[in-house]
Amino acid sequence: MDIKNNIKEFQNYLSDKSCRLVAVSKTKPTELLQEAYNEGVRIFGENKVQELTDKYEALPKDIEWHMIGHLQRNKVKYIAPFVSLIHSVDTFKLLKEINKQGAKSERVISCLLQIHIAKEETKFGLSEEELSEIINSEETKAFENIKIVGLMGMATFTDNKDQIRKEFQYLKNLFDKTASLALPENIEMQELSMGMSGDYSLAVEEGSTLIRVGSAIFGARNYDK
Ligand SMILES: *Cc1c(COP(=O)(O)O)cnc(C)c1O
Repeated sequence: MDIKNNIKEFQNYLSDKSCRLVAVSKTKPTELLQEAYNEGVRIFGENKVQELTDKYEALPKDIEWHMIGHLQRNKVKYIAPFVSLIHSVDTFKLLKEINKQGAKSERVISCLLQIHIAKEETKFGLSEEELSEIINSEETKAFENIKIVGLMGMATFTDNKDQIRKEFQYLKNLFDKTASLALPENIEMQELSMGMSGDYSLAVEEGSTLIRVGSAIFGARNYDK
Protein backbone atom coordinates (compact mmCIF):
# COMPACT_ATOMS: atom_id res chain seq x y z
CA MET A 1 0.00 0.00 0.00
CA ASP A 2 1.46 3.33 -1.03
CA ILE A 3 0.22 5.38 1.92
CA LYS A 4 2.11 8.46 0.82
CA ASN A 5 0.55 8.46 -2.61
CA ASN A 6 -2.93 7.63 -1.31
CA ILE A 7 -2.80 10.61 1.02
CA LYS A 8 -1.57 12.91 -1.73
CA GLU A 9 -4.57 11.86 -3.82
CA PHE A 10 -7.01 12.60 -1.00
CA GLN A 11 -5.34 15.94 -0.32
CA ASN A 12 -5.70 16.82 -3.99
CA TYR A 13 -9.28 15.65 -4.14
CA LEU A 14 -10.25 17.70 -1.08
CA SER A 15 -8.18 20.78 -1.90
CA ASP A 16 -11.11 22.66 -3.52
CA LYS A 17 -13.76 21.32 -1.11
CA SER A 18 -14.93 22.30 2.35
CA CYS A 19 -14.49 18.78 3.61
CA ARG A 20 -11.70 17.33 5.73
CA LEU A 21 -10.13 13.90 5.91
CA VAL A 22 -10.22 11.73 9.01
CA ALA A 23 -7.59 9.03 8.46
CA VAL A 24 -9.06 5.89 10.02
CA SER A 25 -6.05 4.05 11.41
CA LYS A 26 -7.71 1.32 13.51
CA THR A 27 -5.70 -1.94 13.67
CA LYS A 28 -2.72 -0.24 11.98
CA PRO A 29 0.65 0.08 13.76
CA THR A 30 1.90 3.51 14.87
CA GLU A 31 4.69 3.46 12.23
CA LEU A 32 2.05 3.70 9.51
CA LEU A 33 0.30 6.54 11.33
CA GLN A 34 3.64 8.33 11.60
CA GLU A 35 4.06 7.89 7.85
CA ALA A 36 0.65 9.50 7.27
CA TYR A 37 1.54 12.24 9.77
CA ASN A 38 4.69 13.00 7.79
CA GLU A 39 2.49 13.58 4.72
CA GLY A 40 0.53 16.19 6.64
CA VAL A 41 -2.34 14.17 8.12
CA ARG A 42 -3.37 15.64 11.50
CA ILE A 43 -6.74 13.99 12.11
CA PHE A 44 -6.83 10.30 12.96
CA GLY A 45 -9.91 8.21 13.71
CA GLU A 46 -9.97 5.13 15.93
CA ASN A 47 -12.80 2.92 17.13
CA LYS A 48 -11.35 1.33 20.29
CA VAL A 49 -10.55 3.22 23.48
CA GLN A 50 -7.43 1.26 24.42
CA GLU A 51 -5.92 1.58 20.95
CA LEU A 52 -6.81 5.27 20.81
CA THR A 53 -5.08 6.05 24.12
CA ASP A 54 -2.01 3.95 23.26
CA LYS A 55 -1.58 5.74 19.93
CA TYR A 56 -2.22 9.14 21.50
CA GLU A 57 0.64 8.49 23.90
CA ALA A 58 3.01 7.26 21.19
CA LEU A 59 2.49 9.93 18.53
CA PRO A 60 3.02 13.73 18.16
CA LYS A 61 0.84 15.92 20.33
CA ASP A 62 -0.56 18.13 17.55
CA ILE A 63 -2.72 15.28 16.28
CA GLU A 64 -6.50 15.60 16.59
CA TRP A 65 -7.84 12.25 17.78
CA HIS A 66 -11.37 11.35 16.77
CA MET A 67 -13.35 8.53 18.36
CA ILE A 68 -15.48 7.10 15.58
CA GLY A 69 -16.65 3.76 17.00
CA HIS A 70 -19.27 2.65 19.47
CA LEU A 71 -18.28 4.03 22.87
CA GLN A 72 -19.12 2.42 26.20
CA ARG A 73 -19.96 4.79 29.02
CA ASN A 74 -17.46 3.25 31.44
CA LYS A 75 -14.61 4.00 29.02
CA VAL A 76 -15.28 7.69 28.38
CA LYS A 77 -12.97 8.66 31.24
CA TYR A 78 -9.90 7.32 29.43
CA ILE A 79 -10.29 9.54 26.36
CA ALA A 80 -11.93 12.61 27.92
CA PRO A 81 -8.59 14.33 28.70
CA PHE A 82 -7.47 14.51 25.05
CA VAL A 83 -10.08 13.45 22.48
CA SER A 84 -10.90 16.16 19.89
CA LEU A 85 -14.19 14.87 18.56
CA ILE A 86 -16.47 11.95 19.42
CA HIS A 87 -18.43 11.02 16.27
CA SER A 88 -20.49 8.26 17.79
CA VAL A 89 -22.79 9.62 20.49
CA ASP A 90 -25.82 7.38 20.20
CA THR A 91 -27.61 7.72 23.55
CA PHE A 92 -28.47 10.52 25.93
CA LYS A 93 -26.81 8.58 28.77
CA LEU A 94 -23.53 8.56 26.86
CA LEU A 95 -23.75 12.31 26.25
CA LYS A 96 -24.34 12.83 29.97
CA GLU A 97 -21.27 10.75 30.85
CA ILE A 98 -19.11 12.68 28.33
CA ASN A 99 -20.28 15.91 29.98
CA LYS A 100 -19.36 14.54 33.42
CA GLN A 101 -15.90 13.42 32.30
CA GLY A 102 -15.40 16.66 30.39
CA ALA A 103 -15.98 18.52 33.65
CA LYS A 104 -13.40 16.37 35.44
CA SER A 105 -10.86 17.16 32.71
CA GLU A 106 -11.91 20.82 32.67
CA ARG A 107 -12.67 20.57 28.97
CA VAL A 108 -15.55 21.13 26.60
CA ILE A 109 -15.68 17.97 24.49
CA SER A 110 -16.98 18.25 20.92
CA CYS A 111 -19.47 15.57 19.93
CA LEU A 112 -21.49 14.46 16.93
CA LEU A 113 -24.82 12.73 17.32
CA GLN A 114 -24.80 9.48 15.36
CA ILE A 115 -27.98 8.96 13.35
CA HIS A 116 -29.20 5.56 12.19
CA ILE A 117 -29.52 5.92 8.41
CA ALA A 118 -28.73 2.39 7.18
CA LYS A 119 -31.13 -0.45 6.48
CA GLU A 120 -29.10 -2.76 8.70
CA GLU A 121 -30.44 -3.18 12.23
CA THR A 122 -26.93 -3.88 13.48
CA LYS A 123 -25.69 -0.35 13.04
CA PHE A 124 -25.87 2.06 15.95
CA GLY A 125 -27.51 5.44 15.94
CA LEU A 126 -30.38 7.63 17.00
CA SER A 127 -33.71 7.89 15.25
CA GLU A 128 -35.03 11.27 14.19
CA GLU A 129 -37.32 11.26 17.26
CA GLU A 130 -34.46 10.50 19.64
CA LEU A 131 -32.38 13.27 18.06
CA SER A 132 -35.23 15.67 18.60
CA GLU A 133 -35.57 14.63 22.25
CA ILE A 134 -31.88 15.21 22.95
CA ILE A 135 -31.83 18.56 21.18
CA ASN A 136 -34.94 19.84 22.95
CA SER A 137 -34.06 18.55 26.39
CA GLU A 138 -33.55 21.05 29.21
CA GLU A 139 -30.94 18.69 30.63
CA THR A 140 -28.87 18.87 27.43
CA LYS A 141 -29.05 22.64 27.48
CA ALA A 142 -27.46 22.67 30.94
CA PHE A 143 -24.43 20.56 29.91
CA GLU A 144 -21.40 22.86 30.17
CA ASN A 145 -18.68 20.41 29.21
CA ILE A 146 -19.89 19.15 25.86
CA LYS A 147 -20.61 20.85 22.58
CA ILE A 148 -22.72 19.11 19.95
CA VAL A 149 -21.18 20.24 16.66
CA GLY A 150 -23.07 18.13 14.14
CA LEU A 151 -24.26 14.72 12.98
CA MET A 152 -22.67 11.47 11.84
CA GLY A 153 -24.04 8.54 9.89
CA MET A 154 -23.02 5.27 8.24
CA ALA A 155 -24.76 4.20 5.05
CA THR A 156 -25.87 0.65 4.32
CA PHE A 157 -23.09 -1.68 3.19
CA THR A 158 -24.28 -2.21 -0.39
CA ASP A 159 -23.26 -1.70 -4.02
CA ASN A 160 -26.51 0.15 -4.64
CA LYS A 161 -25.33 3.72 -5.11
CA ASP A 162 -28.85 5.13 -5.31
CA GLN A 163 -29.63 3.74 -1.91
CA ILE A 164 -26.40 5.07 -0.38
CA ARG A 165 -27.03 8.48 -1.92
CA LYS A 166 -30.58 8.53 -0.56
CA GLU A 167 -29.30 7.75 2.92
CA PHE A 168 -26.74 10.56 2.74
CA GLN A 169 -29.41 12.95 1.42
CA TYR A 170 -31.68 12.00 4.31
CA LEU A 171 -28.89 12.79 6.78
CA LYS A 172 -28.00 16.09 5.09
CA ASN A 173 -31.65 17.06 5.18
CA LEU A 174 -31.89 16.28 8.87
CA PHE A 175 -28.69 18.27 9.41
CA ASP A 176 -30.13 21.32 7.60
CA LYS A 177 -33.47 21.02 9.40
CA THR A 178 -31.69 20.86 12.75
CA ALA A 179 -29.45 23.80 11.87
CA SER A 180 -32.50 25.91 11.13
CA LEU A 181 -33.93 25.43 14.64
CA ALA A 182 -33.43 27.80 17.55
CA LEU A 183 -30.67 25.84 19.30
CA PRO A 184 -29.11 26.25 22.74
CA GLU A 185 -25.57 27.59 22.98
CA ASN A 186 -23.99 24.17 23.28
CA ILE A 187 -25.44 22.92 19.99
CA GLU A 188 -24.25 24.17 16.62
CA MET A 189 -24.57 22.29 13.33
CA GLN A 190 -21.12 22.66 11.75
CA GLU A 191 -19.92 19.18 10.87
CA LEU A 192 -21.56 16.40 8.90
CA SER A 193 -19.52 13.21 9.19
CA MET A 194 -20.41 10.79 6.40
CA GLY A 195 -18.53 8.77 3.82
CA MET A 196 -15.94 5.98 4.06
CA SER A 197 -13.54 4.34 1.56
CA GLY A 198 -16.34 2.88 -0.56
CA ASP A 199 -18.72 5.82 -0.63
CA TYR A 200 -16.83 9.03 0.22
CA SER A 201 -17.33 10.68 -3.19
CA LEU A 202 -21.11 10.27 -2.92
CA ALA A 203 -20.95 11.65 0.62
CA VAL A 204 -18.95 14.69 -0.47
CA GLU A 205 -21.41 15.35 -3.29
CA GLU A 206 -24.19 15.27 -0.72
CA GLY A 207 -22.54 17.71 1.68
CA SER A 208 -20.16 15.81 3.95
CA THR A 209 -17.64 17.92 5.88
CA LEU A 210 -15.69 14.99 7.37
CA ILE A 211 -14.96 11.78 5.49
CA ARG A 212 -13.69 8.84 7.52
CA VAL A 213 -11.32 6.90 5.30
CA GLY A 214 -9.42 3.79 6.38
CA SER A 215 -8.71 1.06 3.85
CA ALA A 216 -8.36 3.41 0.86
CA ILE A 217 -5.35 4.93 2.66
CA PHE A 218 -3.84 2.14 4.74
CA GLY A 219 -5.02 -0.97 2.88
CA ALA A 220 -7.35 -3.73 4.04
CA ARG A 221 -7.49 -4.53 7.74
CA ASN A 222 -6.74 -7.98 9.13
CA TYR A 223 -9.31 -7.86 11.88
CA ASP A 224 -11.98 -5.97 10.05
CA LYS A 225 -15.00 -4.90 12.04
C1 LIG B 1 -13.65 1.53 10.09
C2 LIG B 1 -14.54 2.71 9.99
C3 LIG B 1 -14.44 3.61 8.92
C4 LIG B 1 -13.46 3.45 7.77
O1 LIG B 1 -13.80 2.37 6.97
P1 LIG B 1 -13.08 2.14 5.54
O2 LIG B 1 -14.10 1.43 4.75
O3 LIG B 1 -11.87 1.33 5.81
O4 LIG B 1 -12.75 3.46 4.98
C5 LIG B 1 -15.27 4.71 8.92
N1 LIG B 1 -16.16 4.92 9.90
C6 LIG B 1 -16.30 4.08 10.94
C7 LIG B 1 -17.31 4.38 11.98
C8 LIG B 1 -15.50 2.94 11.02
O5 LIG B 1 -15.64 2.11 12.06
